[in-house]
Amino acid sequence: MPQKTPKPQPAVQPRNTKQKEAIRAAFVDADRPLSPEEIFASAKSNVEGISLATVYRNINTLLNDRWLVPVEVPGQATRYEVAGKGHHHHFHCNTCGKLFELDGCDLQTKPRLPRGFVSTGHELFVYGRCAECR
Ligand SMILES: [Zn+2]
Ligand SMILES: [Zn+2]
Repeated sequence: MPQKTPKPQPAVQPRNTKQKEAIRAAFVDADRPLSPEEIFASAKSNVEGISLATVYRNINTLLNDRWLVPVEVPGQATRYEVAGKGHHHHFHCNTCGKLFELDGCDLQTKPRLPRGFVSTGHELFVYGRCAECR
């Protein structure tokens, strides 16, 4: 019986990998937190036939991989950003709806806590108009 020759690896990436890569590329290109719709708009131009459902499925995979983390925006759809960044805050443009990252934290005045309370963190959310919308 002749020995089986190993199957050559396909030259093209499987569809799933391509979709996941397009979604990761959307974050690298934008360099700011993105909503599922924004990811979809960006990935669409790189992968033919990608659907919003596929985008949602890949977001969940990337959350499980700890490559993405959710960013909650008051009264808005959850955005996502690349995990592993230091402590920072966000700016929401009320005109174009884009979310931006703010570098570091300049929260100088710490709110006075009731006696015996210990603070373990804070939330700060800035909104207004971005440079493009001003
Ligand atoms: Zn704007
Ligand atoms: Zn802070």
